[in-house]
Amino acid sequence: MPFHEQSAFISILFLGSYLFPLRLSNFAFIFSNMKKLRNKNQNYDAWLHWDVTKRCNLDCEYCFGKITDASIKVHSIEIVKLISTLDKTGKTFRISFTGGEPTLVPNIVEACNAITEKHYISFNSNLISKNINQFVQEINPDRVLHIHASFHYDELLGKNLLIHFVQNYNLLKNAGFNIYAEAVAYPKIREKLDAIVKFANQNDIILTFAPFYGNYNGELYPENYTSSDLELFGINQSEISCFTQKGELCNAGYNAAVVFSNGNVYPCHQIKTKIGNIYEGVNFNDTMVKCPSKKCGCPLNKYDEYLFGQTKTN
Ligand code: SF4
Ligand code: SF4
Repeated sequence: MPFHEQSAFISILFLGSYLFPLRLSNFAFIFSNMKKLRNKNQNYDAWLHWDVTKRCNLDCEYCFGKITDASIKVHSIEIVKLISTLDKTGKTFRISFTGGEPTLVPNIVEACNAITEKHYISFNSNLISKNINQFVQEINPDRVLHIHASFHYDELLGKNLLIHFVQNYNLLKNAGFNIYAEAVAYPKIREKLDAIVKFANQNDIILTFAPFYGNYNGELYPENYTSSDLELFGINQSEISCFTQKGELCNAGYNAAVVFSNGNVYPCHQIKTKIGNIYEGVNFNDTMVKCPSKKCGCPLNKYDEYLFGQTKTN
């Protein structure tokens, strides 16, 4: 899955033989409090995590799932059929949009308008599309659980889009949306981490780092982060261990599921037993599952702890 999926720095840290001016780990507790995934009264009882398109308008080095060929069409969402599918379940949903870049879907704002009449949405976005302004004008922030702004510093810098990202981030924040930024803790960016954090800090961006999941220089991550890497990026052990949960209880397929860009619904990216289609119907399983997979790049029980917590107490 592509990565789409932290502002006061005061301490000085020696790393190896050089002086590194900014330390993340001291502030991890501040960030985790600031990175609220939902607000009060935003209650839902099911979650669909929708890879709505693989197309993307950026081309990050660490991203393996995107399609950058602009000749590949991005399909609109069939809004009437989608709402009918949701209504048939009798549930209140969180629909999270990811990709690729979900704001490339031509009618994404119209779809969000229709969904948020009864349900909630959340977003992973790189914030560079032109329709962010329309989204701000038309969507009620109370129906948006959070906007995960994927901050791809090198790509944005190379395309001269850093300021565009900042403008859209602040546009959303000032309109009352619950927004935070997350960057990929790609091993290659260790050396420029201070510049990235400084930029975020100067522009009032709440920035955290998410573990890189993949291969870099022949080594698999997140397994091969050193303890100093984890401290450098402000990543704690639970953010790593959630990728290996074989045998643990998970609500994938029970009240949470992934939707592929063709509309087919599966319990998760690792359990490929189809349970529906977003335009026809979704049949959730009657019980939770013991995770069958040795590795998982998108642990649904961890990525929506509110819903998983609710599930366990019911
Ligand atoms: S913004 Fe970067 S990481 Fe996210 S989908 Fe596009 S290319 Fe991949
Ligand atoms: S692979 Fe991931 S989402 Fe699927 S059951 Fe295991 S932890 Fe849950």
